[in-house]
This record gives sequence, structure tokens and C-alpha cells, in this order.
Amino acid sequence: MAGYVPPLRDIRFVLEQLVELDGLSKLEAFAHADPETVFGVLEESGRFMADVVGPLNRIGDTAGSTYDGDGQVSTPPGFREAYRQYVDAGWGAVPFPAEFGGGGFPWLVTVAMQEMMTSASMAFSLCPLLTQGAIEALSQYGSPEQQATYLDKMVTGEWTGTMNLTEPQAGSDLGVVRAKAVPADDGTWRITGQKIFITFGEHDLAGNIIHLVLARVPDAPAGTKGISCFIVPKYLVNADGSLGARNDLRCVSIEHKLGIHASPTCVMSYGDGGGATGYLIGEANQGMRYMFTMMNTARLSVGLQGLSIAERSYQDALRYAQERKQGRAIGTPAGESSLIVEHPDVRRMLLTMKAYIEAMRALLYTNAVSVDLAHHHQDPAERQARQELVELLTPISKGWCTDLGVELTSLGVQIFGGMGFVEETGVAQHLRDSRIAPIYEGTNGIQAIDLVMRKLPMRHGGVVADLLAQMESLDPELAAAGPELAGVRAALTSGVSALREATTWLGAKLPAAVRPGHRRLAAGPFGPGRVRAAARRERLRRGLPPGQDRHRPLLRRAAAAAGRRPAPRRHRGRRPALRRRPQQGDPRLMTEWIYFLHPPRDDFAATMTAAEEAVWAEHFQRLQLMLASGQLILAGPTLGTVNTGLCIFDAPDEQAARQVMEEDPVVRGGYARGELRPFRASLLRGRD
Ligand SMILES: Cc1cc2nc3c(=O)[nH]c(=O)nc-3n(C[C@H](O)[C@H](O)[C@H](O)COP(=O)(O)OP(=O)(O)OC[C@H]3O[C@@H](n4cnc5c(N)ncnc54)[C@H](O)[C@@H]3O)c2cc1C
Repeated sequence: MAGYVPPLRDIRFVLEQLVELDGLSKLEAFAHADPETVFGVLEESGRFMADVVGPLNRIGDTAGSTYDGDGQVSTPPGFREAYRQYVDAGWGAVPFPAEFGGGGFPWLVTVAMQEMMTSASMAFSLCPLLTQGAIEALSQYGSPEQQATYLDKMVTGEWTGTMNLTEPQAGSDLGVVRAKAVPADDGTWRITGQKIFITFGEHDLAGNIIHLVLARVPDAPAGTKGISCFIVPKYLVNADGSLGARNDLRCVSIEHKLGIHASPTCVMSYGDGGGATGYLIGEANQGMRYMFTMMNTARLSVGLQGLSIAERSYQDALRYAQERKQGRAIGTPAGESSLIVEHPDVRRMLLTMKAYIEAMRALLYTNAVSVDLAHHHQDPAERQARQELVELLTPISKGWCTDLGVELTSLGVQIFGGMGFVEETGVAQHLRDSRIAPIYEGTNGIQAIDLVMRKLPMRHGGVVADLLAQMESLDPELAAAGPELAGVRAALTSGVSALREATTWLGAKLPAAVRPGHRRLAAGPFGPGRVRAAARRERLRRGLPPGQDRHRPLLRRAAAAAGRRPAPRRHRGRRPALRRRPQQGDPRLMTEWIYFLHPPRDDFAATMTAAEEAVWAEHFQRLQLMLASGQLILAGPTLGTVNTGLCIFDAPDEQAARQVMEEDPVVRGGYARGELRPFRASLLRGRD
């Protein structure tokens, strides 16, 4: 099996023609990164990846990293030497600021280098990748002292970094992290707990490993708001920068995995001897916020793994298809056999791989250049627009490219026929290695939620609308290009129109909870008195009679949840209908529930207590799930609009409902009465 060949021509095309590297180098921060310098760097680093890292891919898979049973991990033969060369050549330092000893190159250049390193050996690339995440966190949030202690050596790669987030009970949901941090007398912290799945948590490549560990300080609030981030080095660092005592942490075992065998995935134990020494980064309870700021680039890098591994698989498959003879292609004389690359089906597979690879590269590099422009463009409006684009594109880069990585490496196996299924050809390794990328750094299910629930509603849909408009703006150019590009134009038109339709559909379904005002719900805590007063104001505003204050059921549930006695009911005159046991189909009842199941107007929402918010959130989550699964749909003319812009519909057909939706500018979503019924019944059981 021949080795990896860096696709420099394809990379250059994207850099020059699609993402305007030239324009980037006109920014003050990147004046030294003119295109010729950048291409020189990429050529040189491509050579390194192909000659030094690429040949390790197979041995990395067959030998894998090993655990000696006593805390030590050894990487496969050749990895230590290659990593040493990587550090000596200074490749790891390329993107980081000069003040920390870095090259100060654009992120775009890093992404291009990372593409080649990952294609050469995905397992090898993970060590620098995790280090990069730790450097980003430290350079943004570390104190000057912490930066001076750790960053220089991490930027060169002499010390490596890890991200310790996951625990057995805390994977996608980091809100339930249990690792503990207690303050010590000397201003440091004692860390205890277990972390799992820690990439390069232990290894023999570097002199020290700087772990960034998420843990809870005493009395931290529950959930993600109570997570802090600590530096926990394998070896403590003396004041003069030399290595000191071994810290109280160890690797307990490494995982036996489907792929990336050379990358040790470690179970880490902190504080078996009383507590590992840790140093708080920034402020306590802000750990998740710090993690989020570096998440975009980490997710972009994982998306890149989909591209890189597909590229490597494509190169292998193309080579094989040009060597392997089998059968007779159409038009081939009798008695001769053809190269399989001549068979239309094999060409289809190869071209499918190639087309998606180019599309992925265009997307990922656009995302990367936007990271640079969001930080360094001189125009604040452009910085803002680019940051929005980064936010929108990141879950797509991660989710789409890593799913494609699996699909395309599977096509690579198919092109090899039976030889694809045996390990000797190496093409099966790409499929196995690629399989992790849709899982880590936020599973692709979590990326989908991020895209739909957080990114599409940005600027009330304005960000995605801008992107769609930008895509559509290509049409006149394509039209002017004449018949040669007519096919591309037609495909773009139908693609963008499908995207617009799907986005609009999703936007209409999106509950009001994802609208920005909703975030103010967290603003509490206010007492029931404030809730009552706000509810009264709301009732008066809406001209409702006394007794129809919509807050009462909410208050009762909240009081029960908080273990308090419910507030006594006060009735004047005839008991209002809503206080009676609800009757099926009672529209006022439904209005009431809808009201409580959706975020009320901001002034009202701001008065919710934490317990009330919890009750609301629980109900609302269920509604979201029902919406997502199609159990609730939009239907029929409005029965009653509530102040959230959500409606209840009672109509015989969906067409009428859509008309209402289109005509009423306030309406954002709603539910058919029939469909609401079983849901309401289950809520009522909870209420009783
Ligand atoms: C090889 C490898 C390396 C790793 N490296 C690191 C590392 O260096 N540092 C680190 O901290 N972690 C690391 N991880 C952990 C990784 O990030 C987690 O495995 C990942 O976040 C998923 O968590 P989980 O495994 O607990 O799956 P779960 O969270 O249990 O998810 C299981 C399934 O449920 C779905 N799911 C979960 N919650 C929801 C939801 N709210 N809505 C919809 N679907 C949901 C998921 O999409 C998934 O399909 C690594 C994992 C592996 C396998």
C-alpha cells in the first residue's frame, strides 16, 4: 500500500479561489502570512506528514498503545521519534500568538496543516489536537502566572495537554460531573475523582502532561453552572520552570477500541493519595463558559477528521482502482479485462468520494477563515457577521463532515471489493478510525440539537437567512456563465430552495423557548409575590376577569416541588371554570396549559423563581420532544392566541392552519386540539 500524498493542489485551490487567503494576509495581524509564505509552510509540513507521520499509520493500528498495568502507557514503535521531530520542527507552534512563542499564523493555515497530519495518521494527530485545545483555554483564561508556567512548553509541544471532561455518568450531559475540588491552605486546590475516555491522558511522548480537569468546588450550584476548570499537571512545576514532584494522579487503564489504536484513551484517577494539586483557571463555576469558547475550534478540528480520513481512503481506493483488473468494461474487446476504474459503478463511487471531499474542504476552510476574520477583521460589523457564521457553521462542519467521513470510508472499502474487508490493505482501518468522529466532541445528535435549537434562531433567523441569501446571490453569476454551468446552476437553485424550505419549516416549528428573550428566565429568583403581581398585571393587560390569573397552577406545582404548602385559594363569587376539574376539550383549559408550557413574556418570565422555572422547564421539554417527533403538529384556525405568540388551533385540516400561520405575524407555532388531548391528560395526572 503506497503512502499518503498531501493534496496540495486541491488545498491551494480552496485557499486561493474560495476563501481568499490573499485578503486575510492584508489584515494587520497576518501581514506575515502572505500566500507564498503560507504555501511554502504547507508544502514543507505536507512533506513532513507524508514522510514521517504517514508511515506510522499502519503500525499504530496493529501495535496500538499499550498499558503496563502500573500507570505507564507506551505508544507504538516510531511514535516517540516522530513526535520528537514534530516538536523540533516547530509545527505545533504555527497558529499560536508570538507572545507565547507561536508563529501567529491564521487558523486557516492550521486547519490545512491539521488536515494533512490527520490524513497521515489520525491517532498521531490527536495528541497535538488535545494540546491545542488546552493551549486555547489557557491563553484566554489562564492568569499571567499560569500562562508563563505552562504555555511556552505546550506551544512547542514539549509538554502536551488533555481535556478531562467525561466521567462514567457524565458524557453528553456534563451538568452531572462529580469530580471534586477543595481549597488547600496554600491557595491551590485538591482534586479527587475519576475521568474516563481521556485522549492521551498518559503516554511516553512528552516530559509533562498538563491536564485541564472539570470539577466542582464546595457548594457549587447544581448543573453546568457549578463546574470549574483546573490545571492539574502530571508533574508539578517548580518556580524556576523545572519539573517537581509527581502529582497525585494516574492512568488506571486504557480502552480497547474499534479504531485509533495508537491513541491511548485513558481512565484517569485523581487524588487516590489524598488529592491531586490543581490550579483554578479564571473564576470558580465558570468552567463550562471557558470550555464553550474553545469548543468552536475543537469541533471544527473534529469535523476536519471526516475530511482527512475520507481523503486518505480516496487516495487508496483510486490507486487500487487504477491497478486492479477485473471484468470487461463497455467497449473493451473480448478477451481483455479492464481496470476496475473503467467500470461506471466504480467511477460513481470514486467521484462521489471526490465530490464530497471537495465540498467538505470548502465548508471547513470557510469556517476556519471566518474564525480568523471574527477575531482580526478591522471592521466590527464584519467581525460580528463572521462570528455568527462560525456559530452557525460549526455544528454543520462537525456533524456533516464526520458522518460523511464514515460513509465515504465505507465506499473506499467497497471499491476494494473483498480486499477491502481484510485488514492487510489498510483501507478497513480508515473506516474503523473514522467511526469515533461522530461520537466525541459532542455526538452528532447533540450537534443537530445545537444547530436547530441554538443556531437557527440566532438573530431571529437572520443569520441563516443571510447565508441563504448569500448562496442565492450566486445565481446571476451562474446565469451569465452560460450553458456550460447550467447544470450547476439548476442544482444550486434546487438545493438552496430545499434548504430554505426545510429551514422555514423548522423555524415555524421552533418553540418560543429558543427565542433570545427566553434566556432571561434564568434571571430569577423572585418570590411568589412578584409572580402574583406580574400575573395580575398580565391579566389586566389582557382584559381578563379576576380569577383568571394564569400563574396559579404554576405556583401550586412550584410550591409542591419546593416542599412548601400551596398558597390558599381565594375566590370571589362564583368559582371560575378553570378551577373546576378540567373537562376534556375545554378551550380555556388548553389556553391555560399552553400559557404555562411556554415561556411567558419577558416581564413575566423575569419574575419566576427557580422552582417555578424547573416545573416549567420539565413540561416544556416534553412539548419540545413531542414537536420534534411529530406527535404535535400545527393545524387549524386560531382558537386563542396567548401572549407568547403561540396558539391553539382547532381546525379540520392542516391547510387552513398553514394559512393562519402565514397570515398572522404573531403566531410562531401551535397545536391541534385533538393532538393536545393525550398530552394534556398526562399533564393533568402529574398535576393531580
Ligand atoms: C475514543 C474516545 C476519545 C475521547 N476523548 C475524550 C477526551 O479527551 N476528553 C473527554 O472529556 N472526553 C472524551 N471522550 C468522551 C466523549 O466526548 C463522549 O463519549 C461523548 O461526549 C458522548 O458521551 P457518552 O459516551 O457518555 O454518550 P451518551 O451521552 O451516553 O450518549 C449516548 C447516545 O445518546 C444520545 N444522547 C445523549 N444525550 C442526548 C440528548 N440530550 N438528546 C439527544 N440525544 C442524546 C447521544 O447522541 C448518543 O447517541 C472520548 C470518547 C472516546 C470514545
